[in-house]
Amino acid sequence: MTPDDRLAALHARIASAARPARRDPADVTLIAVSKTHPADAIRPLLLAGQRDFGENRVQEAQEKWPALREEFADFRLHLVGQLQSNKAADAVALADAIHSVDRSSLIAALARAMDATGRRPDCFVQVNIGAEEQKGGCAIADVPALLAEARSAALPIVGLMCVPPAGIEPAPYFALLAKIARDHGIAGLSMGMSEDVEQAVSLGATHVRVGSALFGHRQGTPA
Ligand SMILES: *Cc1c(COP(=O)(O)O)cnc(C)c1O
Repeated sequence: MTPDDRLAALHARIASAARPARRDPADVTLIAVSKTHPADAIRPLLLAGQRDFGENRVQEAQEKWPALREEFADFRLHLVGQLQSNKAADAVALADAIHSVDRSSLIAALARAMDATGRRPDCFVQVNIGAEEQKGGCAIADVPALLAEARSAALPIVGLMCVPPAGIEPAPYFALLAKIARDHGIAGLSMGMSEDVEQAVSLGATHVRVGSALFGHRQGTPA
C-alpha cells in the first residue's frame, strides 16, 4: 500500500465508525504518530495532505521536525509520550499540542515555559485509565485537582488522553475516559491507536493517534 492508500484506509475506518455513532468524521483529528520513522517516511504523508503528526520523544522530534517545518509550513506537531519536566521548555517551543500532562510538577514547568515564550500549545491531561503501575498518566482520582491546577496556571486544557491496558478490550476504558471528560465539561478526547480506532471513535474520540497502521511496524519497539 502507498502512503496515500494507508491514509485513505484510515479515513475510511474513522468514517465507518463515526456514522453509526451519529458523529461527523471531520470532528476526529487523525494524528500520524511518526516516532522511530525518518523524515523520508514522513514526507509522503505530508505530500498526501496529512497535517497532524505525533512524536513521543522530545529529542527525536527536535532532530526531525525543524527541517520539515521549512518545507511544509502548515502542520501541527503533537507530543504524545511521557514528558520529563526538564524537557518542558523544549516541548513548548516545538509542539502545537502536548498530550501527556499528568502531574503538578509538569504543569508548573509547562506554565513557566509558556509564560516565558508566549507560546501556548493545546494540552491534554493524560489519565492512567487502567491504573497500571508502569504507565504514564495521573490517577483517575487526581483528575479534578490537576485540572484545577492547570486552569489556575493558564494551561490551555483542551482534552483528556489515555492509553488503555494492552491486550484486552479497550472500549470500557474509552467509555470511562469519555465520562470523566463529560463530568468536567472537557470536549477533547485523545484516544484510539492503530488497533482500536473504531472503538475509540464510536465512544467519542476527537483525536486518534495512529502509528503502525500508517507507517508500518516499528523496529525494535513493541507495537
Ligand atoms: C506509539 C504511540 C501511538 C501509536 O501506536 P500504534 O499502535 O503504532 O498506532 C499512540 N499513542 C502513543 C502514546 C504512542 O506512544
